[in-house]
Amino acid sequence: MEVFDQSALKTVLMFGDLMISLSIFTFLGYAVQVISFRSRTDKYKFVSEKESGALKVTAVLLAGSISFYSFVLMGLSINISETYQYFFVGLFGLIVGSTLGYGLWSFLSFYHPFILEKRLKDIRFHPMNSPVTGKPMMLLNETQEDAHLSQEMIEEEDNFSVDYDVWVDEESDFKVIERYNTRFHPQICESCNFRTLTEKKQEIIEQPQLHQKGVLRKHYECSYCGHREHKDVEIASWDEESKYTMYEKDIVEIPANKISKSETEEAEMY
Ligand SMILES: [Zn+2]
Repeated sequence: MEVFDQSALKTVLMFGDLMISLSIFTFLGYAVQVISFRSRTDKYKFVSEKESGALKVTAVLLAGSISFYSFVLMGLSINISETYQYFFVGLFGLIVGSTLGYGLWSFLSFYHPFILEKRLKDIRFHPMNSPVTGKPMMLLNETQEDAHLSQEMIEEEDNFSVDYDVWVDEESDFKVIERYNTRFHPQICESCNFRTLTEKKQEIIEQPQLHQKGVLRKHYECSYCGHREHKDVEIASWDEESKYTMYEKDIVEIPANKISKSETEEAEMY
């Protein structure tokens, strides 16, 4: 009997080890990907889309491993042998694991969005140095930046989940326009004040025509209190839409007379 018990506990222990390894692997895999980004708009996009999911997978695996470890600890401490003992020790492990899992899940669902918001701000507004002069560049405010954005970009900011940041090096006129897609990051719910309001789906209410704008309805739902709301935005007409595609990535503008072409390419990697 003794041998059987030991091997049963060893198997459970192995599952615990496997899950905690996967948990650490998931977390480290995510962290390594985050630090490997060179462009901050790419990093911002990745973090805003993936962080919540990566941490939740990490948490579930961690809770699973704690469940198995609790089974083993309890099993060893009562010197488990009878079938009914396996049942109760199993139940104990399950309760410990699910309590921890529920706690972590709640934290990640309702409090982590505030931490994520701060992290995203840090990524986005981290001081940028000019690759030309090496001096800190100036971030223009919403009013100042409009002078540097095209009409299409301003409309895009107003109607879509897109933000443009304009950074200027006053000395060399070096300019960087960063494009941020904020669609995936949750907004503050007006009903419960948690940052848990996310876009669930979009539907076209009015089809855009060649020269006429359409209407897009965006549906939002709060994952904390269930509050729902929608917002209607204009969709560009077909002829206007063709202009948007050119702004998919950041724009780096350098006065042609100040630096050479190769430096322009390097600058894009800043
Ligand atoms: Zn809410």
